[in-house]
Amino acid sequence: MSRTELEEFVTSLGEPKYRAQQVFKAIHQRRLRSFDEITDLPKKFREKLVAAADISRLTVESKYVSTDGTRRYLMKTDDGKPVEAVFIPTEGRDTICFSSQSGCPLKCDFCLTAKLGLLKNLSVGEIVEQIIVVLNDVYGAGAETPHGTNLVGMGAGEPFLNFDNLIAALRLMADEDGLFVVPNRVTISTAGIVPKIYEYANLHDRAHLAISLSAPTDELRNKLMPINKRWDLDELMKAAREFEKSLRRGERFTFEYVMLGRVNDSDKNANDLADLLGRYKLRRVKVNLIPHNGAEQLDYNASTPEQVQRFKKILESRGVSAYVRTPRGRDIYAACGQLAAKAEVAGAGA
Ligand code: SAH
Repeated sequence: MSRTELEEFVTSLGEPKYRAQQVFKAIHQRRLRSFDEITDLPKKFREKLVAAADISRLTVESKYVSTDGTRRYLMKTDDGKPVEAVFIPTEGRDTICFSSQSGCPLKCDFCLTAKLGLLKNLSVGEIVEQIIVVLNDVYGAGAETPHGTNLVGMGAGEPFLNFDNLIAALRLMADEDGLFVVPNRVTISTAGIVPKIYEYANLHDRAHLAISLSAPTDELRNKLMPINKRWDLDELMKAAREFEKSLRRGERFTFEYVMLGRVNDSDKNANDLADLLGRYKLRRVKVNLIPHNGAEQLDYNASTPEQVQRFKKILESRGVSAYVRTPRGRDIYAACGQLAAKAEVAGAGA
């Protein structure tokens, strides 16, 4: 519930409006997950809350810890659908990767989440609660969110196909009486839901954007990411150009490019990509090259590290900033494209 919804709710229970603020802080700032723990509320009111509402709807099924420190949380909604979030520690700054959907309706050929199909759109509460679960586990319940913790909407699902809930969740999380994760510390990744890129660009409080590209031509992208048949590269690049106009001072946006051995990683592919960005005059962009994370059910191989470096060098020689993303949590099925609600992981259960 937004603050306004919460105010309406507490007044409907016959309580004064100011109680909404107490409840809001208890949920989002103190990250309490049961009404009984909100001991500064009168017992009567707590009883009413318990009878009328749920403060938490996710249960943690299991947690997996990678040799590199990454943690994957496999949770379930109250209607039994899997939800996954990943905690990625890095020096000086931690990142939490959250999901927007259970499963995913897009059929990107190189992604394991796709094999689940769409199970459901996550509610606003389910999106926020994932992050609360992770924060409580990592930093302890009630401890302040460390300044500098970043959020990425790059878990399971397509965020822009659950747009309204996503935006409502981000607004709740940005609240300074709540988690206080401001838009500048959040990046949302889309496979290219073109109308929503325009809509997102127009939000005054939007977070950063990443667009998953993974191919420089329609022919190849149609095969790898069938969403390209709905909105092709021309439409996507025009939207990207429009988004570029919304960038703030110093801000850039990202194209993600999954590196698939002998599929999209040739020197020609790199040059085609630089040409594409050039044709649409996209300048304030960077390309994140993501080594492919394999799985038995996926037909692709990762590019060799040498070819990834070559690809990067070609882009740079053409004036395009390019970075190679370090895979994290591969051993526990926590890396990009690996969130498929896997409950058995060799040797790493916790
Ligand atoms: N649906 C959104 C959010 C998922 S983000 C999107 O597509 O952007 C997940 C990122 O991981 C995307 O950039 C996607 O292209 C990438 N990815 C998917 N499968 C992968 C795999 N097996 N290995 C590496 N990256 C993968």
